Amino acid sequence: MGIKVKVNFDKRKLESAIKDQARESLRNRSYDAKCPFCHTTFSAHPGPNVCPHCRKTVDLNLNIKL
Ligand SMILES: [Zn+2]
Repeated sequence: MGIKVKVNFDKRKLESAIKDQARESLRNRSYDAKCPFCHTTFSAHPGPNVCPHCRKTVDLNLNIKL
């Protein structure tokens, strides 16, 4: 005989917590970005980065769709 336990999750709360965490971890990682000026590939973080080759500012925009 099994016992059934009903668990009521606040689905919206749960979802937004998961999304927040996903966004946070995406923001904290680095990405292989290609400099549009000199085409050097370097590791960039979301936001403004300075290209290690030409020293120009390259904006890395994250398009997060969750
Ligand atoms: Zn560059």
